[in-house]
Amino acid sequence: MQNDRRPADDHHWMQLAVELARLCPPSDSAFAVGAVIIDADGNELARGFSRESDRVHAEESALGKLGPDPRLAGATLYSTLEPCSIRASRPDSCTRLTIKAGLARVVIAWREPPIFVARCEGVELLRAAGITVDLLPEFEAAAKEPNAHLGL
Ligand SMILES: [Zn+2]
Repeated sequence: MQNDRRPADDHHWMQLAVELARLCPPSDSAFAVGAVIIDADGNELARGFSRESDRVHAEESALGKLGPDPRLAGATLYSTLEPCSIRASRPDSCTRLTIKAGLARVVIAWREPPIFVARCEGVELLRAAGITVDLLPEFEAAAKEPNAHLGL
């Protein structure tokens, strides 16, 4: 199943991630992001969004709802923004949490712009860990929309 990926599915799940990003409580010091985790058979495992609780990140929130789970081995994470690679307020970045969880693929709409961190290296670190990373630039504008107040 992992090699039978269809663009229509990618669009379906990224659209859901975009809708989740719109639920984020506004913040002047953090991005509004939505994330969904899908197993190898195309079933949703978990979803999350920024500040769903406390100062949680979207990917962190979705992964946190699962804990260790064998289905994560073939899973895909859809996130409207590149997973963070530096996290001052937590021991692990979302990139590190994703690598630790053993996901197979990450699909993002937008690479993190240098607003809060000089250079996000999420994509590079995920690929170095053997995770497939795909970008869906057709969703970039929709992913940026809930972040318009940051001056993007
Ligand atoms: Zn993060």
